[in-house]
Amino acid sequence: MPKYDILAIGGGTAGLVTAAGAAGLGARAALVEAHRLGGECLWTGCVPSKALLAAARAAHDARRAAALGVDVTGVTPHAERIFDWIRDAQRRIEPHDSPERFRGLGVDVIEGTARFHSAHEVEVDGRRVEARHIVIATGTRPAVPPIPGLADVPVLTNENLFTLDRIPGRLLVLGAGVVGLEMAQAFARLGSSVEVIEATGHVLPREEPELVERLTTVLVAEGVSFSLDTRIDRARREGENIVLGSGDREFRGDALLVATGRTANVEALELERAGVGLRDGNVAVDARLRTAVPHIWGAGDVIGGLRFTHVADHEARTVLRNALFPLASRVRYDVVPWVIFTDPELAHVGLTEREARERHGDDVRVWTRPFDDVDRAIADGQAEGMVKLITTASGRLLGGHVLGHGAGSLIAEVALAMRHGLGAKAIATTIHAYPTYPEAIKQAAESWYRSRLTGVTKSLVRWLVRR
Ligand SMILES: Cc1cc2nc3c(=O)[nH]c(=O)nc-3n(C[C@H](O)[C@H](O)[C@H](O)COP(=O)(O)OP(=O)(O)OC[C@H]3O[C@@H](n4cnc5c(N)ncnc54)[C@H](O)[C@@H]3O)c2cc1C
Repeated sequence: MPKYDILAIGGGTAGLVTAAGAAGLGARAALVEAHRLGGECLWTGCVPSKALLAAARAAHDARRAAALGVDVTGVTPHAERIFDWIRDAQRRIEPHDSPERFRGLGVDVIEGTARFHSAHEVEVDGRRVEARHIVIATGTRPAVPPIPGLADVPVLTNENLFTLDRIPGRLLVLGAGVVGLEMAQAFARLGSSVEVIEATGHVLPREEPELVERLTTVLVAEGVSFSLDTRIDRARREGENIVLGSGDREFRGDALLVATGRTANVEALELERAGVGLRDGNVAVDARLRTAVPHIWGAGDVIGGLRFTHVADHEARTVLRNALFPLASRVRYDVVPWVIFTDPELAHVGLTEREARERHGDDVRVWTRPFDDVDRAIADGQAEGMVKLITTASGRLLGGHVLGHGAGSLIAEVALAMRHGLGAKAIATTIHAYPTYPEAIKQAAESWYRSRLTGVTKSLVRWLVRR
């Protein structure tokens, strides 16, 4: 009999949730981690990036305080102390993901790099581990594009960015995706001059274009430059400078952040020994997160799709249900919220307007509420942004998009409503406290509600009032 019921490979969010969940349900669980428990989110992703953004926001808020009548002088970001702040945040969160905690929960934590020996056995540094179910949760690493000369220049990625000991003077950012934009704003606020270079013509291509346009306007006003439709074809080092070339244009910086996408960590696993296949470089799974081998599963960034911590968590829970219980549970990707943690934040759930029109045609209705119509946002001096709700004519919510202060928190209400089939009416008829930001969501939903007041309803009301 195999020693374990479940073996998770990879100690990031997906592996940790799998192993802790399995042990909590009474299964014999093991977790293999090659480097450090906590994975990308704790060490090189969410936590350090949000701590860096918090330091950058502090500098920005101090500078803009004058607009609210408060003069703050001498705003000086200290690189060493900012990076200490980041490490401190990680140190405080680390115990949640520590090997001791997981051993205490009943998980066997095995340190080392896993590779398949067979479909039921994994080898970790020469030791064989057998399990009934194996969950591949090995995450991703930065994909660095094959640009001639790039291998000879010092490149920053999310893996080494947070161990810097200085704020770059001139930062080049390759890629206008989520990581590129968050870090561009953070370093611009900390004093770097920042140039974002993007091969396509789009910033954040998955997001609502009008909200992206408002966001890029804010970033440009804060000093971030954008070069779109610019495919870098060469790189070289010139003394302290990094030079990137695109045709006859050249960009110079003293640091280069590459944020051009991710590659799944699959090579070390020797998947062919187990019969597990790949799709577009990611571990191929079906809607129940099962690979081609019935007892081998995939969860988290390694399976591609929406690469977020909360999605990795949700997928791990789905794998647990499917592996341990006679249930067939699928992940619903249609109501997944996500947030770009720029300031203002940009939050997204469900369909964009374009996607909604492709699927629902003329039945689509769009309701917006700019933040400069929201009392709390005006009073706080945070009036940049907009809520955009997408519904059917009958008020079914198809998507929600918020650019604005606290958008990441605001989107939860829309996600809750969508997940549980509550329409715009439920939001519009719920009392929201005044003055708060969620009123922006309510006011957008109320626009739908008012649209239901047809001529017939209005005539009826007139008749009732005057009778
Ligand atoms: C800069 C940045 C900021 C981000 N910010 C956010 C955010 O704000 N919110 C959000 O939701 N998401 C954010 N993300 C994405 C988030 O970090 C990932 O979605 C999440 O960490 C994925 O978890 P995972 O468990 O799938 O993989 P990972 O966390 O990558 O874990 C995989 C683990 O597997 C280990 N491993 C790999 N191969 C082997 C092997 N052969 N044997 C043993 N162990 C192995 C690795 O060492 C690693 O610890 C951010 C990402 C980046 C890069």
